[in-house]
Amino acid sequence: YSRGVVRAEEVPIPEIDEDEVLVKTEACGICSSDILDWYREPKAPSFFGHEAVGKVTRVGRKVSEFTVGERVFVHHHVPCMVCRYCKKGDYSMCDAFRKSSIDPGGFAEYIRVPGENVRKGLIRIPEVLSTIEATFIEPLACCIQAVQRASLRIGERAAIFGAGFNGLLLAILSREFGASSVVVIEPNAYRREIAQSLSAVDRVFDASEEALRLLKREWGLADIVFVTPPFPSVVNDAVEVADRGGTVLIYAPSPPGSELSVDIFYLYFSHLTVKTSYSASPLDTRLALSLLLKRRDIFRQIPVVRYPFSEFERAFQDFRENSRIVKAVLYFEEEESLPHGETAARC
Ligand SMILES: [Zn+2]
Ligand SMILES: [Zn+2]
Repeated sequence: YSRGVVRAEEVPIPEIDEDEVLVKTEACGICSSDILDWYREPKAPSFFGHEAVGKVTRVGRKVSEFTVGERVFVHHHVPCMVCRYCKKGDYSMCDAFRKSSIDPGGFAEYIRVPGENVRKGLIRIPEVLSTIEATFIEPLACCIQAVQRASLRIGERAAIFGAGFNGLLLAILSREFGASSVVVIEPNAYRREIAQSLSAVDRVFDASEEALRLLKREWGLADIVFVTPPFPSVVNDAVEVADRGGTVLIYAPSPPGSELSVDIFYLYFSHLTVKTSYSASPLDTRLALSLLLKRRDIFRQIPVVRYPFSEFERAFQDFRENSRIVKAVLYFEEEESLPHGETAARC
């Protein structure tokens, strides 16, 4: 609804068209963007949640790819695959991608999945993967797109600013994509501990000026630097630790109007590339699922705090205020299902 206010509302179970699917949500992760006030407030009040996994409970007459009872990941955004943006692989720039969404959102007990989303955004989850693990698909897909947009090559050195959930995923992915060394820079001591515990991470540094000097002296410079905190000042720190010919990849948006002040002289003579990465494509979500299946042990190193949907207010508050929670996932308990309506969270 407004800054920090999330409420549950009872709304009718959506009706589906003949090419649509109704999914009963089992779990949905809370994304950092769900608590980014400047990002959510202009859209409020709205239903939200975009890391949803659930069971198919109803299928339209024309849907042949899915059957009732199957567990699926639901992607809220899908591209058209034929426009000029899609043709060059820039799927999240597609008009259709930006307009597409699920009804009403991932934090709803029932989700109507529009036809386009059924055809491109719905993915069957193999039984071996738990529902909570499957909620990693969307954020992991966003990180896969980021690593690919950064053009990380085998043997390159990666530095990641921020040891939140996405920072940790980017650290793991950098290693999976062949980085020879991975460092994480994080101001919070507890999050530094988590980063250090990941097998993908070589060194962890504080975010202070002194720590960055130490990083450069002891570890060196990075070919690829990922910036996950949504603040412009971190981009400047990232430029500091990037090597000549390197890439700084801005993973999270800063508020509208935020400006970047970079020394163009330095940028020019360093062949430095500054890029952004927004969201993920249907290709990335499929790659994310296969990676989650292959490397379950590695992704399990990230601690997840689970909350029943009935405690959604506490979940959002904890995720906002408690830096010890890097990932929070809401799950629906069977007994919570309402016979004549559904529950959905609005921010
Ligand atoms: Zn997200
Ligand atoms: Zn398109």
